[in-house]
Order: sequence, then structure tokens, then C-alpha cells
Amino acid sequence: MAYMALYRKFRPLKFSQVVGQEHVEKTLKNQIKNQRIGHAYLFTGGRGCGKTSTAKILSRAVNCLSPVDGEPCNECEICKSALAGTLVDITEMDAASNNGVDNIRDIREEVEFIPTSAKYRVYIIDEVHMLSTGAFNALLKTLEEPPAHVIFILATTEPQKLPATIISRCQRFDFKRITVSDIMKNIKYICDSSNIQIEEEAQRLIANLSDGAMRDAISILDRCVSDGESIITEQKIRELAGVPQFNYLVNMTKAIVTGNSEDALKIVRELLDEGKDLNVFLWELIKFQRDISIYYVDKSLLDYSEKQLEEIQSLTKLSNQTLYLSLISKLSDVQSSIKWSTEQEILFEASIIKLCLENNKSGIGESGKGQTPINVIASVKEEMANVNSDLKDRVLTILKENEKMRIQADLITTTIEYKDDGIVHIIFNDVLNPVSKSNFQKEETKIAIKQAVQKAMGKEVSVKYDNFK
Ligand SMILES: [Zn+2]
Repeated sequence: MAYMALYRKFRPLKFSQVVGQEHVEKTLKNQIKNQRIGHAYLFTGGRGCGKTSTAKILSRAVNCLSPVDGEPCNECEICKSALAGTLVDITEMDAASNNGVDNIRDIREEVEFIPTSAKYRVYIIDEVHMLSTGAFNALLKTLEEPPAHVIFILATTEPQKLPATIISRCQRFDFKRITVSDIMKNIKYICDSSNIQIEEEAQRLIANLSDGAMRDAISILDRCVSDGESIITEQKIRELAGVPQFNYLVNMTKAIVTGNSEDALKIVRELLDEGKDLNVFLWELIKFQRDISIYYVDKSLLDYSEKQLEEIQSLTKLSNQTLYLSLISKLSDVQSSIKWSTEQEILFEASIIKLCLENNKSGIGESGKGQTPINVIASVKEEMANVNSDLKDRVLTILKENEKMRIQADLITTTIEYKDDGIVHIIFNDVLNPVSKSNFQKEETKIAIKQAVQKAMGKEVSVKYDNFK
């Protein structure tokens, strides 16, 4: 393969190459230099901010035969086999797919043995919040008395989901969201070292689109480069990333605030026909609502052309600032609900129609305005029916796997249903006995149910008790 993706070519191999996390870099290098290495680390922070890269660097640094100023040399035989992924003493595990108690039990048995060729056995557990309660308990036992030759590096985007007992056993490092200017600087560096020409505005747009994730920024860059352009322009990135034109944002906003679902759907169709990414569109739409809200306060803060500002002004006359502010949170809800769905288009259309109906002051059916296309609603209903056909069984099975027998038994008399409010309802058909009732009120029960439901649904979703008595 002649072309090596920039993502692979520029992945950080030393602490100093990880962008925007100097506070982590400094502490870890000092620990290596002073031989004061911990046995359990917890790396927290948003996606793409360098947690896994840092974990891999740390796993080499602690084992490197000739570390340089706290960094791995990346040259010795240990570093080389670690980089090639053949060093058996370093284990990477994704807790999203290996979350059971058996996976951790395997590790617990393994840690008793001394490392094969390196100094330490290192276990990197990614997305550690996905572990089942049983697995957490098993892990905790190892963390309480870790053998001297073992190091755990746990990484998570959601530390609030970890048991406090786990957190308290770890040295915690909070990774920061990478700033736009740091991402721009790194993009510039990558382009300069690869003889790629890039406009400054293009750097800014990539940085904004990547939302604090360096990995995403480089992959956008990769797509532009493989397209063979001599210079990367802002316009090129707009096309490639499917960033919608300004008029789409104006027209969609207008359709929503005037409650015109017909127009709104027409725009969705056009976006899809042009191959635009709905997630990117939503993200732009949310930012646009924020900008409209800012216009009410101080339009000089906005970065638009005169003509575009006139368009924004006309939108401010259609409604008020409170409505635009409320749209930011409503559209954010839509964003999180469609993100992991396999039925993005249907859910997106249904959500937009719902927003239109909320704002439809003229009433349904009047002169073609605000009509709800029946086929869209019908297909959403069909999707709900598909999800619900075996949802309850799946939730119960997962609870059993997680060794939550008591909760599983108590849930058998309930109905578990995903409804069109986007929430999974636990419907209590019978009056509960006092023991079951107090069990359902416990925070740990609620967490266990929510985890099982989210796993069964394959996405983030809220859970609600109905008819609880
Ligand atoms: Zn080395």
C-alpha cells in the first residue's frame, strides 16, 4: 500500500506527542523517571482526546529497556514487540464487548503469573464503565491487592457510571477536551510535515467539525488528501464532510418555528438526496439556533456575512429568543436519540415533525400547513413494534447474565416497552409486595435496570417506572 493514512502515520508514540494533555504528560513522565509507578490508573475524558493512546504509551514506558526522560524509546525489543502488538504481557480489552464476570475472572487468574518477557503485565480496559456489576466486583478484588508486577489502566468516557470503590483504588487523570486552537496547530503540523497545502479557514472548520477529537480531525484530513486536491480549502471540506449550506439551516429553522412540517420534510429529503450526513446537519442546526439566540444579545459576536446576518434577523422576527434557546436543547435530545439508531432517517423525520407540530399555531390541516405525513408516523410505529417484540426477554436475559437474579425475578410481572416518547417504560401491572417495592426504589436497582435496558436497546435511553405502587 503506497499511501499510509495520516491517522496511522501521526498516531502519538510518545507522551509529548499527545495533543493538549500536558498536565497528564508531565505527571506520568515524572513517575517513570522516579520509578514511582502506580498499580491502577483511571483515564477519563471525551472520545478522541488521547486516553487510549496515552494508555498504550504508558504500557510501553513502564516496560521499556531504555526509557528516555520518562518516554518509551520505541526502539528496544520490548517497545518494538509492543508496537507490533505481539507482546503478550500487554493486554487491551474493550469492556463494551467483554463486559462479563468471566472476562475479569480470566484476568484475575492470569495476574498471578509473572510476566513473560516484560517487567509488568499491563491491562488496558477501554470503556470500563460498560462492565457488569459482577465484573466490577471481580475487578475490585484484584485492585485491592494487586500483585507487584501488574498494572491496570482503565479508560472511560463516563466516569460517573463507575462504582466509587473502583475510582478510589485508582490514580485518576482527567483528560481535557482538545481546544480548537490545539487541533488547528496539530493539523498545520501534519500538513507541513506531509507537504500538504491547507487554508487556515479549512483548518478551523476541521477543528470545529471534529468536536474536540483529534482522531476525527485527522480522518477528515485523510479523506481530503485521498481525494487528490492540491490545496485543501474550506469549500472542499464542506463538500466532503457533508456540511449543509447556509440556506438549508435558514429554511429548516423557518419550517420548524412556523410549524410547517411539509417544508421541513422536503428539506430532509433534499439533504438525503445530496448525500448529507444527518448527524452533521443536526450539529450545524444546533449551532445555528445558538447563533440566532446570540443575535438577540449582540450580533457583533457572530461570524457571518452581511447578507447572512439579514437572514438571521428575519428569523428573529418570526419568533423569540426563548424559543430558539429551547430548540437548542430539543435538537440536542434528537441528536442523542438518533446517534446510535439504525433507523436514523425515520427517527430524524419523526422528531422534526414533532417539533413542527409543537410550533404549529395555525392548527393542523389549514391550507396544507403542518400536516403530519401518515406514512412517516406509521413507519415509526413499525420500528417501535420491532424493538418491543423481544425487548423484555432481552432485558431479563442481560440481568441474568449480570447476576441480578432478584431484579430479574421482580421484573417478570411487569411490561417493558419502548414508547414513542423515546423512553423505555417499566409498567407495573400488579401491586408490589413491600420487599420488591423497596428493592425497586434502590438506586443500585435503578442503575442495574438502566444498564440492562441500554444494552438491550444498543443505545443511551432513559427508563421510567409507570404505575408504580
Ligand atoms: Zn524501549
